[in-house]
Amino acid sequence: MKLILLGAPGAGKGTQATKISERYGIVHISTGDIFRANLKNGTRIGLLAKSYMDRGELVPDEVTCDIVKDRLTWEDAAKGYLLDGFPRNLFQAEALDTFAEIDGVVNINIDQSLLLDRLCGRRVCRECGESYHVSMLGGATVCARCGGELYQRKDDNPETVASRLSVYNEQTAPLIDYYTKKGVILNFTSTEAPPEVLFEEIRETLDRRFR
Ligand code: AMP
Repeated sequence: MKLILLGAPGAGKGTQATKISERYGIVHISTGDIFRANLKNGTRIGLLAKSYMDRGELVPDEVTCDIVKDRLTWEDAAKGYLLDGFPRNLFQAEALDTFAEIDGVVNINIDQSLLLDRLCGRRVCRECGESYHVSMLGGATVCARCGGELYQRKDDNPETVASRLSVYNEQTAPLIDYYTKKGVILNFTSTEAPPEVLFEEIRETLDRRFR
């Protein structure tokens, strides 16, 4: 099963991605996580990506597409994968068409008025990537799942979030149409209900379609 996860920043892609990849035994490939890991390790790609990420802009397409093209050749991607955060614009979607055949696109719609609070209140585990909202933590500073340290992403601040949302609306949202025309889109809506509720809907749809 080769899937793309589409949705605005803060729509809950990361949380759903973990659940989908566990349930279907496919590897979760997040371009944002790849850039953050490169940054942590001080690589050339990490340093290049940093300036774009700090401004909420897209890292150049050629660099991003090369990374994904290579990542899809790894052995763990042979059984299938879930792409999270890629493609982010039409150029990347067309590039992806030249090296992969996608079975489905899980598109998470969300009322954008919820996103500023979700993103600015988000805390992420440094170890396993689990995310939490500060209002649910009761002052806890470590991950309930693995005990890792929780931190606030540098791009989860009001200015950068505004820029990320406008990049999403201008460049990424047109992909909904692109994949609808290809007949592979699966539409869902994220609400304030717990993420398990949305996952049940996604699971039912994927089971029906691919099992
Ligand atoms: P994310 O973790 O998906 O929210 O991504 C964080 C940041 O990484 C984005 O704001 C971009 O700067 C960069 N990034 C992630 N994926 C891509 C992509 N497909 N193309 C370009 N930049 C990306």
